[in-house]
Amino acid sequence: MSRYWSPVVHQLSPYVPGEQPKIQNLIKLNTNENPYGPSPKALAAVAAEVNDSLRLYPDPTAMQLRQALADYYNLDTGQVFVGNGSDEVLAHIFHGLFQHPAPLLFPDITYSFYPVYCGLYGIACEAIPLGDEFELNVADYVRPNAGIIFPNPNAPTGRLLPLVQIEWLLQRNTDSVVVVDEAYIDFGGESAVKLVNSYPNLLVTQTLSKSRSLAGLRVGFALGHPELIQALERVKDSFNSYPLDRLAIAGATAAIEDREHFERTRQAVIEGRERLVQGMSGLGFSISPSAANFIFAMHPQQDAGELAAKLRERGIIVRHFRQPRIEQYLRITIGKPDENAALLAALKEILG
Ligand code: PMP
Repeated sequence: MSRYWSPVVHQLSPYVPGEQPKIQNLIKLNTNENPYGPSPKALAAVAAEVNDSLRLYPDPTAMQLRQALADYYNLDTGQVFVGNGSDEVLAHIFHGLFQHPAPLLFPDITYSFYPVYCGLYGIACEAIPLGDEFELNVADYVRPNAGIIFPNPNAPTGRLLPLVQIEWLLQRNTDSVVVVDEAYIDFGGESAVKLVNSYPNLLVTQTLSKSRSLAGLRVGFALGHPELIQALERVKDSFNSYPLDRLAIAGATAAIEDREHFERTRQAVIEGRERLVQGMSGLGFSISPSAANFIFAMHPQQDAGELAAKLRERGIIVRHFRQPRIEQYLRITIGKPDENAALLAALKEILG
């Protein structure tokens, strides 16, 4: 607290990111990073950009990357917005599209940055409870609102909402923007991108942090009607004209173009998930059906907080949220086969 702060700063409750420990040799399964690493072509493209051109500002429109994304998704560059991680893209969405009198709607158990942006931008929100199995019932969202946002698959549960249900909601909610946060869609879901040409109020966000394994490069994007994209551009150009630097534009473009690496590594993550689910089910865990690169698991006889602490003693970190409804769950990122095997061995030992 300080008298020098703007009044709004006193009211903020900032997002708490997962730990990035300094200790080496930890098995890090806590922040949904991709264990397989980025495309070698992306790394080469970043390296090639490290030269004298860094004295020049990057392209403020990041057109090279927007073109690559437009080609990939069969859209127009006017339907593509890019930002410094999808977190920044989401911030601009909240700022530019959700500030209306009615409340913004999102699930009670979801990405914990959403209420943080509401606090930052003074947006009223309403958390809509998920069902007992953490399922999202789209009918609960048919009511006056300033906008609707949910991740698909949801985080931290990993549960996927079928595309037909998203379309059902879009047909009934035409007066506000519906944002589908597809940070994890490439690990097993059908993208809503194919609906953006039919629904002018649909915005889909994605990130290169997960399926392209570039969390450290900070690149995310939104796809939707040009009218929505223009709102985001107006906000961006009132905030920071150059959110993507030269290295990010080059690396992200090459990553999107390297389809072979993308397909191979995401399949490896999916196979790792299926095997881990099998192994942990065998140890008595109950696991939400996951279409993401993480699983959400609880053990009926073991306190989740204690379990996380015991795993940590064994050099394995997972995410535990001290939050109503989910305090007995652990969110565990899918690692490489040897990491998943080490996790299973540690759990077996802890459970006796
Ligand atoms: N949406 C969801 C649901 C997430 O879990 C994350 C990752 N924390 C993000 C968006 C943001 O990812 P990034 O900023 O790395 O693109």
